Amino acid sequence: MKGFQSQELTSIIEIDRKTCKGCDSCKSFCPTDAIEGKYGAVHRVNSEKCISCGQCLINCPFGAPKDTVDVVDKVIEKLKNKQLTVVGTIAPAVRVAIGEEFGMEPGSLVTEKLYGAMKQAGFKVLDTNFTADQTIMEEGMELIAKIRHFALGEPSEHHLGPLPQFTSCCPAWVRYVELYYPTLLPNMSSAKSPMMMAGALAKTYGAKEVWKVNPEDIYMVGIMPCTAKKFEASRPEFHSAAHYWQSQGKAGSYPDIDVVLTTRDLARLFKKLGIDFNTVPEFTDKDNPLAQYSGAGTIFGNTGGVMEAALRTAYFVITGKELDVLDFKPVRGLQGVKEASVTMKDAKTGKEVTLKVAVAHGIKENVKALLEETKAGKSPYHFIEIMNCPGGCVNGGGQPINPMGTSWLGKAKAVLPWS
Ligand code: SF4
Ligand code: SF4
Ligand code: SF4
Repeated sequence: MKGFQSQELTSIIEIDRKTCKGCDSCKSFCPTDAIEGKYGAVHRVNSEKCISCGQCLINCPFGAPKDTVDVVDKVIEKLKNKQLTVVGTIAPAVRVAIGEEFGMEPGSLVTEKLYGAMKQAGFKVLDTNFTADQTIMEEGMELIAKIRHFALGEPSEHHLGPLPQFTSCCPAWVRYVELYYPTLLPNMSSAKSPMMMAGALAKTYGAKEVWKVNPEDIYMVGIMPCTAKKFEASRPEFHSAAHYWQSQGKAGSYPDIDVVLTTRDLARLFKKLGIDFNTVPEFTDKDNPLAQYSGAGTIFGNTGGVMEAALRTAYFVITGKELDVLDFKPVRGLQGVKEASVTMKDAKTGKEVTLKVAVAHGIKENVKALLEETKAGKSPYHFIEIMNCPGGCVNGGGQPINPMGTSWLGKAKAVLPWS
């Protein structure tokens, strides 16, 4: 199939022919015009155009689009296998959404209950907030190298991709660039997403130092608000832990993340295991070093979160001082795009640079102008955050479906109270 590599999951989202009413609503949410079919006729997803974001799924009034990758029973089977250490890595946006599947108010923050239910189900936890900090540091350091070279005129020993640097933690956005703007791939940050950082870390440091097991006996489950993460985990590039162990003389080939459960999938798993989320005892995994994190990682689930966290790192390293609150302003005429300017004085040389950054969410509406400007070499920005889903991951295609309309604003407030 065009553009896919072997092993990659294709056709993650399909429309059920019997349920589809041909109402066309999904087309207005699809960022890539991947949905085909005349008004009134059954619609279908063209998987060569689809970026697996699941926006059609959460917004169809009839529930016709389906997530075809159902691994709930497979994970339950693995949890029963005492030879295995099943590790779940929980994304920030899951903890503000899963309560909704158990009758709680949309936006209820239920981290301790989620940890309790995970423990009862038999999971070990590597909080994705922990590895979000690593993505931020990687992405921030990459940006610093580019600022020092391109903006402050310092020599660089390494090849550096061009500015503006784009975030790369949203797999639907990465796929979008691969399919529709391949000439901009050098602008993408080379940092892995927090989920993929978690997979590599679990099967290297985690296996050796935390759980003290053979890395092949770790079954790594991404627990995400996102259907596109199922695609990301299946990409053959992400076998870093196995490659590391091979370099240490050990055999074996396995993915960093074995499978992904969406927030909806995880709720089904708890229900199948008879775990009552409302009464499950709360749990805080204080003894587990991989369940600790800073405030920076927590805001990853919202639009602007990645940018702010990476910029804080860059600002601190260059100036030696903490960054005050970032003042984002909407860019006139580009709804859904915000920009900010930050002036930094290099603590080493005293040179000053003003960084211009932009944040866009919702590929369908808000990204094209930024990309065309970059393609033409006219972008005024140094760093651009792009998330496929309107509002960011809190409104991801794997989140609970609210028949009364989208509830993502409530979830956004829970992750980022000032949003
Ligand atoms: S919104 Fe749902 S019912 Fe309407 S055309 Fe799309 S898939 Fe079919
Ligand atoms: S999953 Fe996303 S890209 Fe694919 S058809 Fe649905 S809305 Fe379009
Ligand atoms: S914005 Fe978040 S939920 Fe949406 S596709 Fe990207 S990573 Fe997935």
